Amino acid sequence: MASLTLDKVRKTFGSVEVLKEINLAIEDGEFLVLVGPSGCGKSTLLNLIAGLETSSDGEIRIGDRVINNVHPKDRNIAMVFQSYALYPNMTVRKNITFGLEIRGVASSERDKAVDDVARLLQIENLLDRKPSQLSGGQRQRVAMGRALVRNPDIFLFDEPLSNLDAKLRVDMRTEIKKLHHRLGATIVYVTHDQIEAMTLASRIAVMKGGILQQFDTPQRIYENPNNMFVAGFIGSPS
Ligand code: ADP
Ligand code: MG
Repeated sequence: MASLTLDKVRKTFGSVEVLKEINLAIEDGEFLVLVGPSGCGKSTLLNLIAGLETSSDGEIRIGDRVINNVHPKDRNIAMVFQSYALYPNMTVRKNITFGLEIRGVASSERDKAVDDVARLLQIENLLDRKPSQLSGGQRQRVAMGRALVRNPDIFLFDEPLSNLDAKLRVDMRTEIKKLHHRLGATIVYVTHDQIEAMTLASRIAVMKGGILQQFDTPQRIYENPNNMFVAGFIGSPS
């Protein structure tokens, strides 16, 4: 696992500056939750870290390694999206191992990897099913399995639970928390859900209009919000 640093990172699309000057130092094993209103630049930030977009300025580092120009495939970062597009014609097992297969990992090693991940996510009994035979929560576990099996340095989650109903969201929140404890992974997690943020985060980053408003522990943000925006956002219903 690894620390992640964003140093004066900016991103413009055309003439619009979507991220203004983001400085973030995320420690090894930290669970950072990123919150902020729709359109404030959360997904863009994750995309820059993953290498799906290129930053306009500034430096992104994993440990001491500058990764701005490193190909996404070589960053060892896994991303889980809200719309977890599984391959409909592949079994769960194949969905999870396909990425390893195209990277040339031997089948015996793939089998071991998928068994480990399936046990961790409690989807052992689903490995031979197709995605259409799964519930929403099960699909989300498979999507997480696909990320986990790569053994990444860093996990990026972009509102991964927002398509699930309230009960499942609570269950999955607990699962993700357990997973974090067990793996000690470095995580950047975007959510709209205040309770998710407060319960999962080691630190919370609050963003508005491409500017980082506050970056601190849940307790300190709750007790001592920097400004009215942060206070209002933390207190608002999800
Ligand atoms: P969030 O995830 O916080 O809702 P996004 O990072 O998706 O916000 O978007 C931030 C802003 O950047 C929005 O105004 C959005 O329209 C704009 N944006 C995102 N991606 C692109 C793109 N590829 N081209 C142009 N504008 C974009
Ligand atoms: Mg988004």
